[in-house]
Amino acid sequence: MEQAKHPLERETAPISEQVKEVVEAVVEALKVPTHEVPTPSAAANSFEAENLRAEMIRVGRKLWQRQYVDGNGGNISVRLGSKYVLCTPTMLSKGDLEPADICLSDLDGNILAGDRLRTSEFQLHLEIYRANSRAKAVVHCHPPYATAFAITGSAPPVGYVSEYEFFIGPVAVAPYETPGTKAFAETILPFVENHNTILLSNHGVVCWSDTVTHAEWLVEILDTYCKTILIAEQTGRQLKKIPDEKLNELLIAKRRMGLPDERLAGMPELVAGAPPELNPDLDVLVKTVLAKLDATKLS
Ligand SMILES: [Zn+2]
Repeated sequence: MEQAKHPLERETAPISEQVKEVVEAVVEALKVPTHEVPTPSAAANSFEAENLRAEMIRVGRKLWQRQYVDGNGGNISVRLGSKYVLCTPTMLSKGDLEPADICLSDLDGNILAGDRLRTSEFQLHLEIYRANSRAKAVVHCHPPYATAFAITGSAPPVGYVSEYEFFIGPVAVAPYETPGTKAFAETILPFVENHNTILLSNHGVVCWSDTVTHAEWLVEILDTYCKTILIAEQTGRQLKKIPDEKLNELLIAKRRMGLPDERLAGMPELVAGAPPELNPDLDVLVKTVLAKLDATKLS
């Protein structure tokens, strides 16, 4: 007589088998032979690069119109495939960008296409890309309200506005270093895993996301939040926080969306209150596949 299976075995084994098949099929489909990595010239002239340059130009105008950049300040970059990065040049207003101004670089900062010199702050972007594979686009700028906090060396308080909590939450504050230096670029390293938004002391802000547009949204959300906090404090009244249990609901949703937040790392109990989590087998498979995909990209 067949022995009765443990209830968990009955439920998880078939799922993990099915998932394994699907994942293996996806990994197979995503395999890109090394010889298909385009040359710098082909990459720079691709439709993807053309679309990304158009997005960078749109975002540059938004940054300038919203007064988040001044003079030639601020810079924008975006990953192009596994080997290249498009970045804005030095000594140009982000409100005046043209497609020909945008440079193509490798992940070591060598310019491979484009007539202009890249910005010295580009090293900051490269450190972010190297340290966090989820970062596909980076925006650095000097928005006035966020920079006001940056010159106090402190982050705005958290727990007051739901949209801010969901998209950003606690921002990190990186110590001051001379812009353009390697030491400056490396100031963000302790924070870039758990923060998509980092205040740069006595300087400005840097945000990373999956697209240039979304990275600029983070700047908007941060600067508006800093402004709102400053105005609220001027009312002289006590500010009311979002209740803890409601904040936890936002954090659970945030975890589901894959948005970084240092509070998620420190609050495993959130899992207990969360809706059904991933099967542990599935979790292991996803991590294995992500590692394989990363290895494929680097080959
Ligand atoms: Zn700057």
